[in-house]
Amino acid sequence: MNTPGKPAHAPMKHFHSADGELLIGGIPLRRLAARVGSTPFYAYDRGLLDDRVRTLRAALPPEVRLHYAMKANPMPALVGHMAGRVDGIDVASGGELKVALDAGTDPAEISFAGPGKRAAELEQAVAAGVLVNVESFRELPLLAAAAERLGLPARVAVRVNPDFELKSSGMKMGGGPKQFGVDAEQVPALLAEIAAAGLAFEGFHLFAGSQNLRAEAIVEAQQKSFELALRLAAQAPAPVRVLNLGGGFGIPYFPGEERLDLAPIGANLQQLVERAAGELPQAALTIELGRYLVGEAGVYVCRVLDRKVSRGRTYLVTDGGLHHHLAASGNFGQVIRKNYPAAVGTRMDAAPGEDASVVGPLCTPLDLLAEQMPLGHAQEDDLLVIFQSGAYGASASPERFLGHPAVVEVLV
Ligand SMILES: *Cc1c(COP(=O)(O)O)cnc(C)c1O
Repeated sequence: MNTPGKPAHAPMKHFHSADGELLIGGIPLRRLAARVGSTPFYAYDRGLLDDRVRTLRAALPPEVRLHYAMKANPMPALVGHMAGRVDGIDVASGGELKVALDAGTDPAEISFAGPGKRAAELEQAVAAGVLVNVESFRELPLLAAAAERLGLPARVAVRVNPDFELKSSGMKMGGGPKQFGVDAEQVPALLAEIAAAGLAFEGFHLFAGSQNLRAEAIVEAQQKSFELALRLAAQAPAPVRVLNLGGGFGIPYFPGEERLDLAPIGANLQQLVERAAGELPQAALTIELGRYLVGEAGVYVCRVLDRKVSRGRTYLVTDGGLHHHLAASGNFGQVIRKNYPAAVGTRMDAAPGEDASVVGPLCTPLDLLAEQMPLGHAQEDDLLVIFQSGAYGASASPERFLGHPAVVEVLV
């Protein structure tokens, strides 16, 4: 399958096939495509979502609360599915807050983070009774005014921009100068203003970064986050009840990447749970994960419309593209474009054949879903599958670019 010496994609063994067809939620791909009624589509496998939650729960101490950061995949049916399986939902806008509430999430278990929350969004949050992760001094008078108008408490935690970085992270979101959170050194002043404004302080939120595959780096960040929260807690107006240590757990996308080892993270969190029992006795530890919970459970499926050969290179032209799956095209935060794992989902037993590039219908060379991968056995009408597509897919893509039809999403 793989060229010797060239790094390979991590195996996609969580999906099975039968009679040469990929199965999603137990359904053969062509039948699923017929059921959906059109291509392209995203399909998310309920069984795989459940497996992932079970695996995490088994690896982490039972006291650690597991939140789903729904920006990774805000499909309402999926959020509803996850809401029944995790301990809380993290939202990042008033729009996401609505989806989380519609999904039946207990407002007490929703937290709301993000820079630049509008006054109306803060009022929505207070009215709903969710926890607001404060990211700026500016939010305090707005929250106090909303609480006053509504006659309700404004529940707040402080999102801290830590004085360290999450090493080897795909995307750093803390440490150094950042638009996220309040710099650790300004937090004592913020805590004083929270007390003066009469807001209901509940704890701290630290989120250092995203897409990390190195357990040691995550352990180090969680350790340092705990220490920092402990120091800041000494100046808090009320006991810390919520300590959100972030997440950042990555999944393997590109050749050479391997799955994250949860064991050291679980062991470290066990130590932190024990320390918290002594040093922050009212605090519940939370981790918030998006991609790790849902990314591996989803595929993007598109149909081969044409098979062209240009000067010796094979191109599979499909009905899918960057307008639905910006991340697979390499234009969502990648520095050097690399291929997502992909397969011809209607010929899973066929020998790979020659290399081919998978492109979309858009008139731009950026519309590339796979470059020179061993998929050349695909023919017109075959279904091409991009794995690791359950997170940052449809909602993170410029769907209106070039006016093609919208993508369908199904939970199977
Ligand atoms: C984006 C984000 C997450 C989710 O990140 P993943 O890499 O998808 O796990 C969690 N928390 C905050 C504050 C975020 O901004």
